[in-house]
Amino acid sequence: MDFSQLVNKENRLPADYVPDMVEIHEPMGSKIDKTYVNRLNKVAYAYFKLMQAAAKQEGYEIFIDSSYRSYDYQKRVFDSYAEELGIDEAKKRVAPPGGSEHQTGLAFDVISRRDGVMIEESSDEDPELIWMRENAYKFGYILRYPKGKEEITGYKYERWHFRFVGPEIALEMKEKNIDTLEEYHMQKQQDKNKTY
Ligand SMILES: [Zn+2]
Repeated sequence: MDFSQLVNKENRLPADYVPDMVEIHEPMGSKIDKTYVNRLNKVAYAYFKLMQAAAKQEGYEIFIDSSYRSYDYQKRVFDSYAEELGIDEAKKRVAPPGGSEHQTGLAFDVISRRDGVMIEESSDEDPELIWMRENAYKFGYILRYPKGKEEITGYKYERWHFRFVGPEIALEMKEKNIDTLEEYHMQKQQDKNKTY
């Protein structure tokens, strides 16, 4: 498994791509069917558990709201948007089939719990999200669709969506002030093309 794998609207996964994953059992938000079983890459999940424990030590409770989604699931979502709004509008709003990071098994949408109540992606000022933005890289995660980078990622800002890239890449991105995985890959390509 290549944790730096780039998946976006231009770089799509094949329909039959199903990663190796483990089942995860976390409290979930109201939007998700409670009988649904989330799945995530085994390594990504192990690091999530470390991150969750570290957050808890500082008084923040974070959980996985939504993680793996299949190609077929994304196709159904996309097709229903396309049917209602037309294909151009659908392209702007949702990932095309194969173009969602959720199909990698390396991404999840975070949900918090405060005073026993689940809180979904409400504000940038949520202390749990502030903690995540500051600390996720230590556990190999990046905020995948940052504010102001919409042109590069192709997706609007999502304060809740985190992607596992592994601790080494996450640290490298932090140290070099690289905000997106697209820019990370561009940088790698440039380094490769350099002649010494
Ligand atoms: Zn997401």
